[in-house]
Amino acid sequence: MTQRHDVVICGGGTAGLTVAAQLRQAPNPPTVAIVEPSETHYYQPLWTLVGGGVYDREASARREADFIPPGCTWVRDRVASFEPEEHAVTLAGGERLEYGHLVVAMGLQVNWDGIPGLAESVGRPGTGVCSNYSYETVASTWDNVREFRGGRAIFTEPVTGVKCGGAPQKIMYLAEDHWRRTGIRDRCEIVFCNGKGSIFSSPYYAPALQGICDERGMEVRFETDLVELRPDRREAVFRHLPTNEETVLTYDMIHVTPPMGPLDVLKDSPLAAASGWIDVDAHTLRHVRYDDVFALGDCSSLPTSKTGAAIRKQAPTVVRNLLDDREGRAPSASYDGYTSCPLVTGYGRLILAEFDYSKEPRESFPFDQREERYSMYALKAYALPRMYWHGMLKGRM
Ligand code: FAD
Repeated sequence: MTQRHDVVICGGGTAGLTVAAQLRQAPNPPTVAIVEPSETHYYQPLWTLVGGGVYDREASARREADFIPPGCTWVRDRVASFEPEEHAVTLAGGERLEYGHLVVAMGLQVNWDGIPGLAESVGRPGTGVCSNYSYETVASTWDNVREFRGGRAIFTEPVTGVKCGGAPQKIMYLAEDHWRRTGIRDRCEIVFCNGKGSIFSSPYYAPALQGICDERGMEVRFETDLVELRPDRREAVFRHLPTNEETVLTYDMIHVTPPMGPLDVLKDSPLAAASGWIDVDAHTLRHVRYDDVFALGDCSSLPTSKTGAAIRKQAPTVVRNLLDDREGRAPSASYDGYTSCPLVTGYGRLILAEFDYSKEPRESFPFDQREERYSMYALKAYALPRMYWHGMLKGRM
């Protein structure tokens, strides 16, 4: 069976829903279909605070149906292949959707199997292995932090790049603060093993974060990538990337940020760049080979940090340029790489990093955002979730 829509959006996550809502508010709106298999939508940025015991995980979940914008068709299936020459996608159930324009917003793949020993231990009681990177495992982070009585706690960040580049360290700051407040900090050795060569991608904010680690006694090892877990012995194997040398560290608790990469269905498609991400122009967000295709969010090749905050700026660019193309005009909107990372540095403390493709600061507030502030924590913990559910996903900002 074949359906046809003016716009087909693949993926009804943060990016897909935001673009759909904005498109439907345009004068003379196009018909829009959203292909999304999941019945539940998650506000993933809350998982940092769930792992830190501030919220229950249920607070991050809502029914997908409640966020499909009025007038859009929700196709509850997954995309199986792309046929851009024929302006069509084929779904797992065999249906074919033809489009006037395609928006790809399918997020990324968390590669739990990329670390031997991880999939079978993460989130299991008694293993000491936890992760904020899924709804199924995020509650185990707080269980481990709360039950920790001292010893070595390891936090990892892979070399692959991840969604929200700051998230692997945010949970370490919360855990450290919790152990300080509960009086066991002097019994805790905290090690941050980071596959990358610096603590944060924007050099403007990196010294402030490194300073916090140094002051509060968190050891940071760079270019040190987790390659294996041996849960039966509570051992983690790390590779020092410049030398290829392997080191084994024992742990009492380990928070793992798994390696991430493009979804297989995208990597193997004609839309992918050599990197596997959807190959779009960094400013117009239009596909470099197919004029009727746009992509944004985590699945795109955009060389900026993959965050919901970035999508807030990418979505209006896609919408404007897609509508321009529908009306026979050249794309008029340009995205500058804006992204933001609210680096929770403790309970009630946060550094709000905001920058663009240049990695230079693009700050919203009239003060030095490299300083830890309660006001910025309150923004992340209380204001942003409301703005997300009631503003961004409704196409209001
Ligand atoms: P997603 O929201 O992941 O949506 C992708 C959608 O595609 C999903 O609904 C999925 O079901 C669907 N899909 C997958 N495969 C298919 C298929 N074959 N066919 C159709 N649909 C498919 N961002 C911030 O801005 N600030 C933060 O503080 C922050 N903290 C974070 C902390 C954590 C622990 C995590 C995990 C993320 C954090 N992020 C943060 C990142 C942010 O959540 C993501 O960047 C954002 O959700 C990406 O949106 P997206 O639409 O690209 O992908």
